[in-house]
Amino acid sequence: MAKDPVARLRVAPGTKVDLGRHATDATLGWEKEWALEELERAKERLDVLQARLYAEEQRSVLLVLQAMDAAGKDGTIRSILSGLNPAGVHVASFKVPGGRETQHDYLWRVHEQAPAKGHIGVFNRSHYEDVLVVRVKGFAPKAVWSKRYEHIREFEQLLADEGTRIVKCFLHVGKDEQRERLQERVDDPEKRWKFRMGDLDDRALWPKFQRAYEDALERTSTKYAPWYVVPADRNWVRNLAVAKILLGVLEDMDPQLPPPEDGIEGLVVR
Ligand code: AMP
Ligand code: MG
Repeated sequence: MAKDPVARLRVAPGTKVDLGRHATDATLGWEKEWALEELERAKERLDVLQARLYAEEQRSVLLVLQAMDAAGKDGTIRSILSGLNPAGVHVASFKVPGGRETQHDYLWRVHEQAPAKGHIGVFNRSHYEDVLVVRVKGFAPKAVWSKRYEHIREFEQLLADEGTRIVKCFLHVGKDEQRERLQERVDDPEKRWKFRMGDLDDRALWPKFQRAYEDALERTSTKYAPWYVVPADRNWVRNLAVAKILLGVLEDMDPQLPPPEDGIEGLVVR
């Protein structure tokens, strides 16, 4: 067993995924108080590395977040990216396609939102919706969606070859925990805007969504764009796990500050 609990969340390419065997309430051996402090330390380090990535301006990072409703995609983004320089972060949220988006292939709107060099891009939902909700709700026939896993692998390979480091997190929430969170959205006037009646339809299709997620994770977890199954019933576990996954990618990239112009060393500004 790998020592790093976060490394164990990674879906090894070519392996079967049985989400029923991934606990949604796991703590990964962490205690809450420590995890909250560790998150602050991780964010300080993320801040340093983001600044270097931005200065280097050669490569980018793409964090893909997928999950059932109320698993905490928005909360994760807020918690791990607050404190970073907003100029270097690009968050793209993918909703039901509309307008011109419906006139093109499903990757058209996605490619446009891919992070520019020097940036950290976050996808709040993504091209994976086109093999998840589209499959489960029958918005496209199997003959169409079944070809998409290959497109997606190739698309992500293209991004990776051109300098984007991709990491993908499935925030794995339990069905009971989702019920509580949806109820809270209904009951709390400040949160009610997030609730749509359609969320209940998706909830009723829970097993089908889980199967679709298992297939997507199995078929598209690659060396250059791995999936992680992140336990999401406890926000503090989820936040720290995703922060550590993102930090691991940036540490591994080791972005470099550009060399100073000749004559700057020792220069006295008058
Ligand atoms: P939310 O993320 O809760 O604001 O909701 C966005 C909604 O858009 C979710 O119900 C998604 O399933 C849906 N959605 C996102 N992308 C697609 C897509 N490509 N096709 C159909 N529905 C989508
Ligand atoms: Mg929603």
